[in-house]
Amino acid sequence: MIRKKYIVNGRVQGVGFRPFAYRLAREHGLTGMVQNTSEGVIIEVQGAGKTLDLFARDLQTKHPPIAEIISIQDQEVKSLAGEKHFSIISSAAQDEHRVLISPDWAVCPDCTREILDPDDRRYLYPFTNCTNCGPRYTITASIPYDRKNTSMAVFDMCSTCMSEYGDPEDRRFHAQPNACPECGPVVWLTDHRGAHVFQTEDPLERSAFLLKQGRILAVKGLGGFHLACNAFDHDAVKELRRRKNRPHKPLAIMIPDLMTAEKLAKLNPLEQELMQGPIRPILTLEPNPVHALSPALSPDTNRIGIMTAYTPLHLVLFEHLKRHLSEQEIPALVMTSGNMGSEPICLGNAEAFDRLKGIADYFLLHNRDILVRCDDSVLFVNGRDEGYYRRARGFVPEPVFLNRGGASVLGAGPELKNTICLTKHDQAFVSQHIGDLKNLETYTFFRECINHLQHILRVNPRAAVCDLHPDYMSTRFARDESGLQVFALQHHFAHILAVMAENSFQGPCIGLALDGSGLGLDGTLWGGELLLVDNRDMTMKRLGHFQPVPLPGGDSAVLEPWRIAAGYLFRLGLDDLVLENKDSPAFSRDKENLRRMLERDINSPLSTGCGRLYDAVAALLGLVSSISYEGQGAIILEKIQSAQDYPFYDVPILDTEHGFILDTLVLFEQICRDKNQGIGPGVISRRFHLSLARALCAWARTAAKKTGVKTIGLSGGVMQNLTLDKLLRTGLKKSSLNVLTHKSLPPNDACISLGQAVFGQYMLES
Ligand SMILES: [Zn+2]
Ligand SMILES: [Zn+2]
Ligand SMILES: [Zn+2]
Repeated sequence: MIRKKYIVNGRVQGVGFRPFAYRLAREHGLTGMVQNTSEGVIIEVQGAGKTLDLFARDLQTKHPPIAEIISIQDQEVKSLAGEKHFSIISSAAQDEHRVLISPDWAVCPDCTREILDPDDRRYLYPFTNCTNCGPRYTITASIPYDRKNTSMAVFDMCSTCMSEYGDPEDRRFHAQPNACPECGPVVWLTDHRGAHVFQTEDPLERSAFLLKQGRILAVKGLGGFHLACNAFDHDAVKELRRRKNRPHKPLAIMIPDLMTAEKLAKLNPLEQELMQGPIRPILTLEPNPVHALSPALSPDTNRIGIMTAYTPLHLVLFEHLKRHLSEQEIPALVMTSGNMGSEPICLGNAEAFDRLKGIADYFLLHNRDILVRCDDSVLFVNGRDEGYYRRARGFVPEPVFLNRGGASVLGAGPELKNTICLTKHDQAFVSQHIGDLKNLETYTFFRECINHLQHILRVNPRAAVCDLHPDYMSTRFARDESGLQVFALQHHFAHILAVMAENSFQGPCIGLALDGSGLGLDGTLWGGELLLVDNRDMTMKRLGHFQPVPLPGGDSAVLEPWRIAAGYLFRLGLDDLVLENKDSPAFSRDKENLRRMLERDINSPLSTGCGRLYDAVAALLGLVSSISYEGQGAIILEKIQSAQDYPFYDVPILDTEHGFILDTLVLFEQICRDKNQGIGPGVISRRFHLSLARALCAWARTAAKKTGVKTIGLSGGVMQNLTLDKLLRTGLKKSSLNVLTHKSLPPNDACISLGQAVFGQYMLES
C-alpha cells in the first residue's frame, strides 16, 4: 500500500479538475483526497503501486478538455491506515480567493448531445452548461467564483439541478451556472419597439424564420449583442452594412459546426482544432470559391472570418434554421458585434434597444445578465502558428506569466485598439479588446474594465504607465484620475517590451517596430523603427528608422491616404508628376491647398510609420483614396498582389549620424516609376512586399552586426500583414537570428498595455 501526493499546476482550478480527480480515483479503487490550494490542486491517493501509476497516467491524458496541466510534482507520503473513501475537501477561504476566474467556454460535446436529444430534459434548452463548458468571466461580478457572485444568483436551482450540482459523480458537480428549462433563464423575442412578439410560439424558432426571411436581428449572446442576418442573403448583408454605417470592414459569419466550415473553406489541422475546441474564436480563412456567400461580407480581402456556434443558444438557433433550408443550402449567419461604428459592444437589454433600434428589426433577448462586455476573439493561422487580430472571449482573463514578480502596476494602454493590463506578482492580466477611447462609451467601458479587473484580481496598483502622447484618453486617465504614481513610456519601446515578455525573453533584443504611428521621443510620429531594448536594465535606444515623410493634414491624412502619398511625392520632388493622378480625383481637387501646406510646413507632422508607407503605396496605385477602417489600404494592397515573384526594388540602408536610415523614399520612387510605365498594381504590390521584407531583414542584420545582439523582436500593427509576417520570419531565421513574435497577444496596439506594465514594475523596483 503506497500513498502519493501530487501538486498539479496550470489551468486546473474552476475547470472541473477536482471532480475529475474524484472520479478517476474511484475508477481505480483508490482512497485519498483532492483540494484546491494556493499552491495548486493537491491530490493524495493511496493504493497498490501499479494502480497509482495508472492513475498518474490518466491524470495527464484524461483531464477535462479546458484544463491545462503545466506541471505535476509527486512525492511519496506516509500512508493512512483505515482510510475508506476518496473525498473532495473544500478549500480555505483565502485559497478560494486566489482561484482565477476562467474565461468563457464554448458548449462541450456532452452538452451538445443533450441539447440535440429529443428525449433529454435539456432538449433545445439555450442555457445548458456543465463543469466543462459555459459562461464564466462575463457573468462574474466578484470572487470567489460562486453562483451567488454571478448573474445566475437570481435563479434558484430546481431539485433536479440541485442534485446534479451536489453530486461529485455528476458532470455538473459545482457547475455554478447550472440551469434547466424548469429553473433557468428564458429567451423571448420583441420587435424594434420592444413589444413582445409571438409570445405563444418558440422565440428561437421564430427568430430562425425571420432570419431566413432576410430580417436583421439583434441577438443577445455571451459577452454582448450580435447583429445577425442570413450570410447568403446579399440584400440583407448590404442593408446591415448600411444601417450599421460600416461600408467595408469585414463581417464575420457563424456556422453550426466544423462540418459546415469545411464546405465553406479549406482548413488545416490547427484550424480544425480551433473550430471545435473550447474557445472557438473567429478564424480568418480562405473561402472555397464555389460558395455563394454574399460578396459584401469582406470586399477588401481574400479571407473570411468564420466561427462555429459556441453557445447553446446559437446551436438551437441553427437547429431551427436548418429546418427552413433545403438539403443543399448551407446554414450561415452574419454575427457581427452589436454596436455602431467605434462604440463598444452592447451589453444590457435596455442599452441594446437604445443603441440598436435603428439597426435591428427584431431583438432576441434573455434574462441572464451579462456583467462584462467581451467581444469575439479573432485569430489567424499562418503555417503552423496561430496569431491574434483581437483577443477577448475564451482567452481573457488568462495571464501572461512574467519572468519576475513585482508590485502591482496598471498599463493604461494606447488610444486605439486599447486594452489595459494589471499585474499581480509575476502574472500580467491583459484585458479584453476595449477599442477606440476617443468614443465616450468606449472610455466608460475602459474605466469599467479597470475597476472590474482590480476587483476580481484583488489588486491595488501602486503605479500607472501611460503613453508619451499627452492627449490620449488613457494618458489623461493615468495622469489626472488614477491617483497613482505615473511613468510614461514611448509607444514602440512598449511594443518590443511586450513581445519580449510574451516570449519570457530576458536580455538585449533588436526590435523591429512596424506600426502605424506613435509619438516619438523627438516629437515626430514614429512607426518604422529599429530599436535596441534590454529589459534587464531598461536600456532603450533608437538605432534607426524609415525616412520621415510629412503627413499633410495630420490626423486626417490617416483617413485620407492620398495625402500621405502626396507627402512622399513632395519629399521626392515629384509632386507635379502625380498630383495629377487620374485614379485619385482627390489629388487634383486639393492640389493647391496641399502644396501650400507642405511648402509652408503647416499641420504636416513628420512620420516614419511603416503603416503610412503601405497607405501611400495603396493610394498611389489608386486602390484607396479615403478609408473607412484602420489599415484598409494595406489590406487591399496585400489582397491584390500577384501570385508570382518579381525582381526586388532597391532599398538602401544609409549609415548616418541619426542611425541606420532605411531609405523608403528610394523604394517609393521606384514604385512611382513602375506605375508610370503602366505596370499593373498586382505586380507592383508583390514587388513591394518582397522588397520591403528583404530590406527589413538586411536592416536587422546590420543592427545585429553592429551591436552583437542576435535576437530580433517583431511587433506593430503592420505585422498583421500575413505576407510580410511570413517573409520576415523566414528571412530572419535564414540569417541565423533568433526571432521573437507575439504568442499570446496581437502585434497591434492591444499589446501596448503589457509592455507598459512590465516597464512600470521595473521602474518601481529601481
Ligand atoms: Zn458542457
Ligand atoms: Zn433546473
Ligand atoms: Zn502601435
